[in-house]
Amino acid sequence: MALLDGERRAELVGSLGAVRARIANACIAAGRDARAVTLIAVTKTHPARDVATLATLGVLDIGESRDQEASAKVAEVAELRRTGAGERSEAELRWHFVGQLQSRKARSVATYAHAVHSVDRPELVEQLAAGVTRAEREGLDVFIQVSLDGDPARGGVLGDDVLALADAVAARSQLRLRGVMAVAPMDADPRAAFADLAGVSARLRAAHPQAVAISAGMSADLEAAIAHGSTHVRVGSALLGRRTQVFG
Ligand SMILES: *Cc1c(COP(=O)(O)O)cnc(C)c1O
Repeated sequence: MALLDGERRAELVGSLGAVRARIANACIAAGRDARAVTLIAVTKTHPARDVATLATLGVLDIGESRDQEASAKVAEVAELRRTGAGERSEAELRWHFVGQLQSRKARSVATYAHAVHSVDRPELVEQLAAGVTRAEREGLDVFIQVSLDGDPARGGVLGDDVLALADAVAARSQLRLRGVMAVAPMDADPRAAFADLAGVSARLRAAHPQAVAISAGMSADLEAAIAHGSTHVRVGSALLGRRTQVFG
């Protein structure tokens, strides 16, 4: 077991170095400061132990996309880190919920998430705010998910409807409006999509100057996202390897 853990750790060290280098190179190409881009490790389908290992490597922003898996993993990771399985690391993790969120799961997510990237309708705003109050937490960061392909089935609100939803978020004392999030359309040039997202972000900032964050870019397209101002890249497979289950 110890040997296997060591192998997995070495694998994660290697992939993390490669992803950090890609981010650094994309920032140089875009004339941006790499410290302005937060790497979120999307650990869905991967075990709690990987999260604990990443934490010892300085990756403290963790992304998940299903409440059932995430809530169990949050507890498991806390236990692993408390009992010092592996190296100790005191720094607090920040959990980012990045997947499509059902309204009935919103209250659960509000008990452990530090940020929700997939807010795309008023009902979720209400449920998340209520969940923060009920859990007696300080607040929750919110990204408005923007649909870049006009297909609501994949989640997200159309660009024209972003402002109204942002106003609803900003009106809630429990929620902090951070910015926009998007997933690039499947069969299109991600650069055009991320350019559109930058435009939506600029319009949002005109009304809400603090909402500067752009959550965009995954394993396949993080360079294109950084070229268009992404502040939060959500990277799964390039860091952790292939997933055995498929998620939307
Ligand atoms: C799974 C997922 C990611 C990570 O995808 P990779 O292609 O594995 O990097 C990013 N964002 C969301 C919303 C996801 O569901």
